[in-house]
Amino acid sequence: MYEKFGISKKMEELSKKVEMMVKPQFEKLEKIYEENSLKVLKAMQDSRLSLMHLNTSTGYGIDEPGRDKIEEIYSRIFKAEDALVRSQLISGSHALAITLQAILRPKDIMLSITGLPYDTLQTIIGIGGTPGPSSLKAFDIKYEQIDLKNNKFDTEAICKRLSKKDIKLVEIQRSIGYSTRRSLTIEEVEDIIKKIREVNKDVIIMVDNCYCEFVDTKEPIEVGADIAVGSLIKNLGAGIATSGAYIVGRKDLIELAGERLTGIGKEIGPSLNQNTNYLKGLFLAPHAVYSSLKTMIFASKMLEELGYDTKPKYNEKRADIVQSIVFKNKEKLIKFCQGIQAGSPIDSFVSPIPSNMSGYEDEVIMAAGTFVDGATIELSCDGPIREPFIAYMQGGLTYPYGKIGVLKAIELIEQG
Ligand SMILES: *Cc1c(COP(=O)(O)O)cnc(C)c1O
Repeated sequence: MYEKFGISKKMEELSKKVEMMVKPQFEKLEKIYEENSLKVLKAMQDSRLSLMHLNTSTGYGIDEPGRDKIEEIYSRIFKAEDALVRSQLISGSHALAITLQAILRPKDIMLSITGLPYDTLQTIIGIGGTPGPSSLKAFDIKYEQIDLKNNKFDTEAICKRLSKKDIKLVEIQRSIGYSTRRSLTIEEVEDIIKKIREVNKDVIIMVDNCYCEFVDTKEPIEVGADIAVGSLIKNLGAGIATSGAYIVGRKDLIELAGERLTGIGKEIGPSLNQNTNYLKGLFLAPHAVYSSLKTMIFASKMLEELGYDTKPKYNEKRADIVQSIVFKNKEKLIKFCQGIQAGSPIDSFVSPIPSNMSGYEDEVIMAAGTFVDGATIELSCDGPIREPFIAYMQGGLTYPYGKIGVLKAIELIEQG
């Protein structure tokens, strides 16, 4: 069968060898997959999820039971006081923007302790390039940053800065975004939050949780964060949610985010036929994340065997679903993305090329032959066209589909 997809015998043989080598890693994933599945089911049962909650609302959607039930379930899963799970949140970036705009006021200072934030966040904050007229900076909200030190939190610098008690909000981005660092495990997040609390009890700690949900068995609120944010076209939507994002955390902060989103509060907001999608997506999310991680571990080892520089390595502990490959070569980056597209179910016959995207400074190439436009829990690969030409690959709703996409991409770069 693989031959029919243009995969050479040599590559198929290598893939069999690699699958033997990564078996222990696959086995570790199963435990996490199982625990998260039980967590989801328990939250649905404890919330007394019922058929009626699959109904939907239009217009104002005042106090809609289904939408409220979904937010109750999210609260349980995250061990949070409250949640906003809305299709009116367009993306992870939008949810992050709403959260920051809801909490921060003129003259407040936000502090990133994971270095430069994700590209779209830079636009929202107003750093890098000219600050936009609606950026936080334009509203006189100050931004400071502490870089990671040797890929870890710079605890000393962080505690020193926070002991001054003039910072309103700390931002922690767990996943790597388009950077060259590593992703941050939940244990590391727990540890830094403990240390922050020793010097500053009141600072609001916000976690950008994009790509990290269900990669481990704990989530940010239960290790002490005040608020956490993620996208539903990533991990928790499992390719079923067709749009949306979530914000979970302290009740007072969720209330502020709700007000910022709707102008009035979280009691309004129609679910617009998303309830079933959100619930089914959440139900399948432990499996989607599991498949995605398997695909990335397989890819990491395959590429390593062929001499490429991969991060993380196949046997490293993972905190997100992203696999990066440092190509140091523009053509290989483009070819690899084109290969991922060629292995997709949708638009497999088209070839992506780099172009400008709103919110991003550099040209970006994005391969996503996905059912939900741009959904990166489905196998996808993207990267800004800048040195050192890194491909950021993630997703894979099932392992066999993920594997064929990876093999197709590898064939393309190997054929040159
Ligand atoms: C994906 C992502 C976001 C948000 O991106 P959207 O495409 O707007 O959903 C934010 N931060 C990180 C680290 C991400 O990976």
